[in-house]
Amino acid sequence: MSETIPPLESKRVPKPEWLKIKLPSGVEYSDVKKNIKDNRLHTICESGQCPNQTECWGAGTATLMILGNVCTRSCMFCNVATGKPENVDITEPLRVAESVKLMGLQHVVITSVDRDDLTDGGAKIWAATIRAIRRHAPGVTMETLIGDFAGRWENLQQVIDVKPEVVSHNLETVKRLTREVRVQARYERSIEVLRRLKDGGIERTKSGIMLGLGETDEEIYEAMDDLRGAGVDILTLGQYLQPTRQHLAVQRYVSPEQFAEYKKIGLEKGFRYVESGPMVRSSYHAERHLI
Ligand code: SF4
Repeated sequence: MSETIPPLESKRVPKPEWLKIKLPSGVEYSDVKKNIKDNRLHTICESGQCPNQTECWGAGTATLMILGNVCTRSCMFCNVATGKPENVDITEPLRVAESVKLMGLQHVVITSVDRDDLTDGGAKIWAATIRAIRRHAPGVTMETLIGDFAGRWENLQQVIDVKPEVVSHNLETVKRLTREVRVQARYERSIEVLRRLKDGGIERTKSGIMLGLGETDEEIYEAMDDLRGAGVDILTLGQYLQPTRQHLAVQRYVSPEQFAEYKKIGLEKGFRYVESGPMVRSSYHAERHLI
């Protein structure tokens, strides 16, 4: 029998000063935008309305999204379109690799929509993309932000086998809120993904949690303990922002001081690196996580 979770109350919390976002601009920003457009690539920076787009694109980095821009899932915090995705494009790995080379990146973050419609969950394109980047842009390090492959471990194994430098899988929220926030995902399955990554020999594993969805401090610490139990090395904590009125409402804005406190506790619990702040997103300062 499924557990009944009371809906998160919809209330409007005024946005604090520290969350004001600068508008995108600058030469590097324009170059990255042009490159992405010319190579028909998608970025989570745009689809996810990331508040750090100016900083990251201005520094010549971007988080590329593979396997299309339509997701088979409907997470209640995410602005990526849900629906029936297009057919897999087998030229995508090469286009991504050429783009990484052209942008002159040292470190690249790759993510994808979830492809529950595919038997392999997109694992073959994932592995081909990582191999193509190694071939066309040697020396570039990679972080791959992957989904849970619906618990089909043989598909997850295909990513493990090509050994990206960092592999992330986001918990996104605490255990109690997972069914509401990540409708088709399961908390324990995500922990299992992270455990299998570490057991499979991935040197640096990473996960992220959004704060402001109604979680308590005890629930945050429980999630930290579960992540450490799965051997996770790097943790990101950031403020949840409601992308549209159709998405979950913000329950609270966490102050920068409180984020600093969570960082301290995370480090005490044994994470090698904790990125914690109102504007932190999964890929923020990703190059620093090659510790
Ligand atoms: S699986 Fe990822 S891309 Fe798809 S809706 Fe959820 S967060 Fe968004």
